[in-house]
Amino acid sequence: MTIISLQSGSNGNCLYVESGETRLLFDAGISGVRAEERLAAFGRDIRAVDALVISHDHQDHARCAGVYQRKFGLPIYATEQTLAAARRGLGRLTDVRHFRAGEPLEIGDALIETVSTPHDGADGVAFVVQTDGGRVGLLTDLGYVFDGLGDIVASLDAVMLESNYDPEMLAAGPYPWHVQERIKGPGGHLSNAEAAGLLRDCGAGSLRWACLSHLSEQNNAPEVAFRTHSSILPKPLHLVAASRSGPVKLPEF
Ligand SMILES: [Zn+2]
Ligand SMILES: [Zn+2]
Repeated sequence: MTIISLQSGSNGNCLYVESGETRLLFDAGISGVRAEERLAAFGRDIRAVDALVISHDHQDHARCAGVYQRKFGLPIYATEQTLAAARRGLGRLTDVRHFRAGEPLEIGDALIETVSTPHDGADGVAFVVQTDGGRVGLLTDLGYVFDGLGDIVASLDAVMLESNYDPEMLAAGPYPWHVQERIKGPGGHLSNAEAAGLLRDCGAGSLRWACLSHLSEQNNAPEVAFRTHSSILPKPLHLVAASRSGPVKLPEF
């Protein structure tokens, strides 16, 4: 499997997954020009992508879905509620394929499990992509470590995992109180320590790598996240951080 994080964070999310002949994009939170250029830098043509799958309606995930469809001809996969919540900003859509949160999707050689999350989108899901190459989890915008999440992590070969904030930086940072409460709350994001605890309890032994994802700009930094994960994880695990400003190609498997 080839996995390229084109960008990850509240300023826009877009992730490319390729296995065999199947090419998938998850989320459309960066401009069409950026997505096209960043894929081209790795020798990939965005017009050859088979499907654009949207995790939830928040702007950093759904914003440019209509552009990707009109410019590159990508079919959009989303739940009805996600599309209804995101729709106003998307413009004219001609090829939308609905799925239900919790039901699997088959696209090409990939089986995509969809997992409902308690994050405060209209109908948010996280994903597990399974192909002959293995199983990768796309687990961001999770809310909290909900029941069943550990079993999912334990089943994976690799994971893109939200590690959004450091609680001390959040408390000392510029965000107003109600925004801090939202981030920490059950509809928000996982902290570094919550993500590390999940990996320690469920995944560190069998994962090839974990890519710390959706890092906050104000309330986190890659070195802070790495430090927290290293202090909590008992065994060495190959940790990578996704970037808020550019692409990161993950080790292939
Ligand atoms: Zn997000
Ligand atoms: Zn979100």
